[in-house]
Amino acid sequence: MNQRKVARDLHSIDEEEYIEDLKGIILDAAKRCRNCNYCFTICPLFHSTRGFMSQTPSGIMQSINYALKWDVFKGEDQEILRDLLYLCTTCNGCVLRCKSKATGLPVLDAIEAGRKLLREMMIGPLPQQRKPLKDIYLYGNPYGEKPERRVDWTKGLKVKIIPPERAEVLFYVGCTTAYEPSLHLIGKSLVRLLQSLHVDFGILNEEVCCGEPARRMGDEGLFQEMMNRNLDQFKSYGIKTIVSISPHCFNTFLNEYPTIQEEIKIQHYTEFLAEAFKGKKPLFKKEISSVITYHDPCYLGKHNQIFNAPRELLQMIPGVKLVEMKMTREESLCCGGGGGRMFAEVEEERRLSDMRITQALEAGANIIATACPWCYKMLQNSIQDSNLEDKIRAKDISIILSEALN
Ligand code: SF4
Ligand code: SF4
Repeated sequence: MNQRKVARDLHSIDEEEYIEDLKGIILDAAKRCRNCNYCFTICPLFHSTRGFMSQTPSGIMQSINYALKWDVFKGEDQEILRDLLYLCTTCNGCVLRCKSKATGLPVLDAIEAGRKLLREMMIGPLPQQRKPLKDIYLYGNPYGEKPERRVDWTKGLKVKIIPPERAEVLFYVGCTTAYEPSLHLIGKSLVRLLQSLHVDFGILNEEVCCGEPARRMGDEGLFQEMMNRNLDQFKSYGIKTIVSISPHCFNTFLNEYPTIQEEIKIQHYTEFLAEAFKGKKPLFKKEISSVITYHDPCYLGKHNQIFNAPRELLQMIPGVKLVEMKMTREESLCCGGGGGRMFAEVEEERRLSDMRITQALEAGANIIATACPWCYKMLQNSIQDSNLEDKIRAKDISIILSEALN
C-alpha cells in the first residue's frame, strides 16, 4: 500500500492495522528489489559515508526488511538500525534512478515506513530530533520559539497580516525564515519582489509548521495534527493560492495534504515569480556581474521536477553568468539537510555541503545560489567553516533578484 494512502487513512484505521500497512510497504518493496545496485551512485550517502552496503538505498531498505523478518529490535541492534534509517536525507534520488533503470520501487516510502515503525516502537527518532518534535507539538515550530514572535521579522514592512486583514494569496513563510535572523532577508526580499509585482498577498498571524519535519522523522500523528491546523486556517481565511519560500513546505502542501489541491493553488516562490516576471524582465535594472551556479534543492528538483524556473529567474538578471556544477538537476548532490538531518549530527566521512561547495568552485562560480532556507544554511556553514568567504558566497535567489530590482 502506498505510504500516502496510509497517512490519508490514519484517522480511520486502528493502530494494529497502521503497523501492518507500514510493514506491508517495506516487505513488498524489499521483495521486488533486484539488488541491481543502480541506485547506489545517485545516493548522497555513497559520497559521504564509508560506502558499506547497508548505507545504500537498497541496503537501508533491506536492513529494515530483515529486522522485521528476524525481529531484531533489541539492544545495540535497534540503535544500529535507527541510525541507518535516519541517515537517509530523503532526497528521492534512488526513487528516480530505480524508476529509470530498474523496477520503479518506492524505496523512500519503504525507508519512511521504517522510520514510522521505529517511532511507534519508541526506537526512533534520533535522540537530537526529540526536542524539535516536542517543540512542534508545544509551540508550532521546531525551534521552541514563541508563536507570538512569528511575524516580528515583518516590523517596518507594509505587509497584510491575516487576520484581521484578508488576501487570497498567502505568502507562507515557514518556521526557519520566520525565526532565524540570518534568514529574515529572504522573507524581506520576497515581500519586496511581490510588492514590485503589485500582488495582493498576506501572511498568517498564527502560521504554524507545515508538519514536514514531523513526518520525515516518523511522527505521523504530529504531522496529521499540524496538517489539520493548517487546513483549518487556509479554509477559514479563504486562501486561494499559497506561495511558499521553502521547497519542504511547498512539497508537503502539494503532495502530502490530500485534499488541498481541489481548492488551493500551491506554488514555490520560484515558479510564481518566473511566471509573474515573464515579459517584465526590464524590472531587473541593476547589473550583477557574478558567475552564479544554482544548487537544486531536492524537494524542488528531485521531488517535483522544478529545474527551470529558478534558472530562468537568474538569467533575467543583467550581468549574471550562469554555470552548472558537475552534478546538476536530477543528478544534483543533496546538501545533507533534508529528512530531519537539520536537527541532528549524523556519522559521515565527508560533509555533503562541503563537497557541494567544492563542486561550485570547480565550476568557476563566485556565488552558489539556491532556493531553500535549509540548503542556504548548510552551504553557508560550509563556506564559513572552510574559510572560503573571499572565494564564494551562498545566496538565496530571492535576495539576488531583490538586489537587481531597479
Ligand atoms: S535500483 Fe531499485 S531494484 Fe535496483 S537495487 Fe536499487 S532499489 Fe533495488
Ligand atoms: S532518498 Fe536519497 S539519501 Fe535516501 S536512500 Fe534514497 S538516494 Fe539515498
